[in-house]
Amino acid sequence: MAGRWLGYAALYLTMYLIGRLEQLGSTGLAVYWPAAGVSTYWALTARNRSETIYGALLAGVLSLVGAVATGHGWAAGMLFAIAHTVGPLAARAVNARLTRSGSLLGSNIGDDGSVASARMQTVGDVTRLLASAAAAAVASGLVGMLAVAVRGTPITWMEMLAWLVRYSTAIVVVTGPALALRRWHRVVTRPRPVEVVVLATLTAGTLWVVFGPGQALPLSYLMLAVLAWVGFRMPVPWAALWGHLVALSTLVLTLLGAGGAIGAVADPAQRALVLQAYMLLATSLPMLLATAAYERRAHFRDVRVARDRAEQLFTDAPHGLLTLRPDGTILRANDRFGVMVRRSPERLAGLRLDQLSRFGDDLRRHLTRVVDLRGEQQTDDWALDAPDGGTLPVSISSRAVFEYDGVPTVLMHVIDISDQRRFEAQLAHMAEHDALTGLANRRQFDHALQLHLDRCEQFGPHGALLVLDVDHFKEVNDRLGHAVGDQLLASIAAILRRSFRRTDLVARLGGDEFAVLLPDADAQTAEAKAAAVVKLVPDAIAAIDGASPRVTASVGVTTFAGAATRGSDPADLADMLMYDAKDAGRNGYAMLSEIDPDQPLTGARMAWKPRLQRAIDEGLFELHLQPLLDLQSDRIKGAEVLVRLADDHELVPPGRFIYIAERTGLITELDAWVARHAIALLPVIREYNPGFTLGFNVSGSSIGNALVEQAIAEAIADIGGVQPGELVVEMTETAAIQDITQAREFAERAAAMNIEFALDDFGSGYGSFRYLKHMAFEWVKIDGDFVKNAPQSAKDRAIIRSMVTVARDLGKRTVAEWVSSKEALRLVRELGVDVAQGYLIGEPVPIDEFIARHLDGALKH
Ligand code: C2E
Ligand code: CA
Ligand code: CA
Repeated sequence: MAGRWLGYAALYLTMYLIGRLEQLGSTGLAVYWPAAGVSTYWALTARNRSETIYGALLAGVLSLVGAVATGHGWAAGMLFAIAHTVGPLAARAVNARLTRSGSLLGSNIGDDGSVASARMQTVGDVTRLLASAAAAAVASGLVGMLAVAVRGTPITWMEMLAWLVRYSTAIVVVTGPALALRRWHRVVTRPRPVEVVVLATLTAGTLWVVFGPGQALPLSYLMLAVLAWVGFRMPVPWAALWGHLVALSTLVLTLLGAGGAIGAVADPAQRALVLQAYMLLATSLPMLLATAAYERRAHFRDVRVARDRAEQLFTDAPHGLLTLRPDGTILRANDRFGVMVRRSPERLAGLRLDQLSRFGDDLRRHLTRVVDLRGEQQTDDWALDAPDGGTLPVSISSRAVFEYDGVPTVLMHVIDISDQRRFEAQLAHMAEHDALTGLANRRQFDHALQLHLDRCEQFGPHGALLVLDVDHFKEVNDRLGHAVGDQLLASIAAILRRSFRRTDLVARLGGDEFAVLLPDADAQTAEAKAAAVVKLVPDAIAAIDGASPRVTASVGVTTFAGAATRGSDPADLADMLMYDAKDAGRNGYAMLSEIDPDQPLTGARMAWKPRLQRAIDEGLFELHLQPLLDLQSDRIKGAEVLVRLADDHELVPPGRFIYIAERTGLITELDAWVARHAIALLPVIREYNPGFTLGFNVSGSSIGNALVEQAIAEAIADIGGVQPGELVVEMTETAAIQDITQAREFAERAAAMNIEFALDDFGSGYGSFRYLKHMAFEWVKIDGDFVKNAPQSAKDRAIIRSMVTVARDLGKRTVAEWVSSKEALRLVRELGVDVAQGYLIGEPVPIDEFIARHLDGALKH
């Protein structure tokens, strides 16, 4: 850093002192101009503002020192000092301004981002340097003039001009080449040595001939011609240096008394002026021409590079690219398009694009629109003829570009969208079809049903509807695994597909439930079909390896006319009829014909949905409690809450509506209601028997349901929390647990609220043991079926014994349901069961009665 400044100061001072040499002064070639060039160079290359300012000040101080040292006195010293401070600052300011604004042939921001870093690489750089030099000259000149004028010496126009030229020349001759040489390492193209030698010889010769001693030919322009040649042929730094050397040589020759026409000028002042103007020209001309040539070469190189790249993009593009005449004639096609139409791109040129497709009209319309849009892009779908006789769907995007003569050329992208189309079709299929069986799914079925109902409205009810449910499907799934279950469903789908006409819509509604819409079948046909299907299903199942022969189908059939007569929704009706078939012993069908509207069972079922909804809305339920006897202490230590529907003056047991609630999705609301009210009973019971256990039932399909969980959590919060052992959730398996992971997560959250779990009806379903393995239950409730017959059946006793063993080994406690005789009670006690429940101990009764009969506190109150 310090070295740079010292170097700068030394160079400046040397130049200044050279400039003050008497010989120079005597030629009128005053004086300090090399120093002005050095300080301007410094200012233009300064890296920041302070460097610029300190540099200018240093120049001023040094010129003052120099002037005094060479005996020019303080006054002259001050004048130079001011002029040499102002000049570089003005040069820098103007250069920075022009560079930033991009005037004088474009902006040129430096590599370092500094705007003032002049590089002499472009014509703009040179012209900006010239402008900066002029600015410096004018600024310093004005200051100088002012000082001289103050001293009282009048200034002539000639003197003023001389000052300007002198100062500008100083800057350009020194600064230009110095700046250009900074880019020396950037010279990419080396000129040929022969050319350099020829030009050097020519330059030296011309110098001698024009400015040599004794030459008086007014041929100085000859030298300029040679310099022009140099400018065109040499790299920029070379050309700058070349001009610089010629300018200096001219100066030296003139000083030595030669100088040709210039030296011949008699008046020293005029001679100096002409000489300096010539030097200015000799330096800037080759620089200007070299930069112009450089820019031109760079421009052409850029154009070539851009064209090569565009070419590469065109050929390598992963989709088809074409240039076309507006009439569709192919000018050029890329490789990818060639692949699309199976022809080489060369053979495509000259062909008309519309000949490659049977949809030529669409293309012609597209092209007309593209040309009309005058440069805007237009995208359309189109199709090319495929070699296999089909079509290749493509998307074409085109834009018209207009040549100088106004004739449009069309640039077209052709994108193969067959994958996309295939994908879309697949998505559409997936949205409407069941993935496992390939049958229509519920969505499509509902849609078709709606359309059919609309038609019925218009033309009168016609056609029939069939709902099929696989009996014991859950067992197949549980026992043989889901793979076999899936296989079973697929074979049933196949049977159904085979059994119906193409105009009938066969759908899988979900799970093991299928439906068929027969748009124009009458009652007889529908019934015959139902009978046929019911017969076919067991055969199909028998064919599945190891499957249970018990798997059959229950089918509900209704005609639309039949449903209309009863004013029922055909889908609900068919569904309920299917239940009739199940109730009638499964493996059969139930049919509702229009002739006999009195089918009481189905009728009652049909009415259930709205009835249940109303009951939920109005809270028409009652909770009964059934006591649980602890067999260790022989005391009633708990109760199970059981729901009843109190409606129309009767108390309906849950067995009649729970499964309907489960099928219609009302179960979650029902379970939430029960949970809320059951938990609310706890504080009442606590008052009598602290630590009493209350259990309530939650359907498997409600486990993990947010509504039910929220109801439980809120009810618990309302009573200020529960103690461990106070609350048990009985998970009934009437509807399968939907998602075991979800159920497990629910169980974890419930455990945090001190809730215990009981696996209800243990042994009744094939899933029981699996649930036991995957979920944490504190209680296992042995299904009443086993208990009921235990006194008579050794088999049932053995089963109960093994269940108790398993439960114990897993650290769970057991409850025996349906203990309705003393014999049964004795048995379960013997078998090691922990808790007994059943009519013998107590029937389910309303809360008041329960308190009176079973709670200790009843005595107290
Ligand atoms: P569950 O959970 O197995 O309930 C025991 C059922 O057995 C009750 O029938 C009860 O009255 C009956 N029972 C008790 N002791 C004896 C006996 O000694 N002999 C005979 N034959 N039966 C006895 P209920 O109240 O009709 O409930 C039937 C089923 O409905 C329950 O079976 C349970 O699965 C379901 N359930 C009841 N309340 C709710 C509820 O709030 N939510 C849900 N999701 N299901 C419930
Ligand atoms: Ca239960
Ligand atoms: Ca049970």
